Amino acid sequence: MFEKFDFIENADLKDFSTMKVGGKAKYIIFPKNADEIKKNLQICRKNDIKTFILGNGSNVLFDDKGFSGAIICLKKMQDITFLENNVVEVSAGVNLFALNMALCKHGLSGLEFCYGIPATIGGFLVMNGGCFEHEICEFVQEVKVLKNDRIFVLKAEDCDFSYRHSNLQNCVVLSAKLQLFAEKPDKIKQNMDFYLNLKREKQPCEMPSLGSVFKVIKTKPEIHPAKLIDKMHLKGVKIGGAEVSTKHAGFIVNCGNATSADVLNLIVFLEQKLAEIGVNVEREIVVLKEEQNGQMA
Ligand SMILES: Cc1cc2nc3c(=O)[nH]c(=O)nc-3n(C[C@H](O)[C@H](O)[C@H](O)COP(=O)(O)OP(=O)(O)OC[C@H]3O[C@@H](n4cnc5c(N)ncnc54)[C@H](O)[C@@H]3O)c2cc1C
Repeated sequence: MFEKFDFIENADLKDFSTMKVGGKAKYIIFPKNADEIKKNLQICRKNDIKTFILGNGSNVLFDDKGFSGAIICLKKMQDITFLENNVVEVSAGVNLFALNMALCKHGLSGLEFCYGIPATIGGFLVMNGGCFEHEICEFVQEVKVLKNDRIFVLKAEDCDFSYRHSNLQNCVVLSAKLQLFAEKPDKIKQNMDFYLNLKREKQPCEMPSLGSVFKVIKTKPEIHPAKLIDKMHLKGVKIGGAEVSTKHAGFIVNCGNATSADVLNLIVFLEQKLAEIGVNVEREIVVLKEEQNGQMA
């Protein structure tokens, strides 16, 4: 069925999520361009195979039961094109490490804040990822997407970006044009190292995780679930192999042998503890259950 494409059958999902949990996927397909994505989605529709679009899996918790459909992983879409006026066009699968290195070499500044986040630009756009008072949407000129077998170019204002939200969830992000500004490579490298060190100091970057589990509640003043979890002395609480990080209470880490159920049970436990003090949190991470049809773009 997928013979013409790069794909793996019965693939271990553990290898495709930074949490390192999950069962097997019936198929993982690695399209190299929009046409291949389109053809794969058409095959899946025709054969009633459910699909899920994946970047680097740094925000996705896979099920221990796996996924009986096709994961369409965009990691092989790797083009970076430098355009005029400090604009760069980046394909969805480029990871933020590689992107920052390339931008630094070309003297383009702006994205240093996200250096160290193990995401693809596609996933980062969908989630409107951010940190250190920046969000990716600040730099977006336009986003190219595939929806219903057609390619559309969306202006930033059409993407409905807000805190960890966009309306790109139901399309496949193919690429984006980002507006950056000129800076000396030495200065850019200095900024990158600064942000990377801050992350390493405060977050358990050395352990498998999905980053912050819960969204900050954007009331005035803001409510930070991680601070409340810390205050309730829940750092270090474990269920099976999943642990509330002792370094950052907003992260759940895999101590080596966690199952997806361990992680989910620990999330539910924290949600209950927060509810007991009157705080209802929203998950930042995406949970892909076996029975779910992830995305049918
Ligand atoms: C150590 C660590 C630190 C982190 N720090 C931060 C941080 O500081 N700030 C922050 O915002 N996040 C952070 N994260 C979370 C995560 O990196 C982000 O949510 C990121 O945006 C996910 O990108 P990804 O490529 O891994 O997407 P995935 O996890 O693969 O996918 C996330 C969602 O996007 C969808 N998706 C992915 N690519 C596409 C595409 N091309 N088209 C359509 N849909 C797509 C998926 O279906 C899924 O719903 C961190 C995670 C880790 C592990």
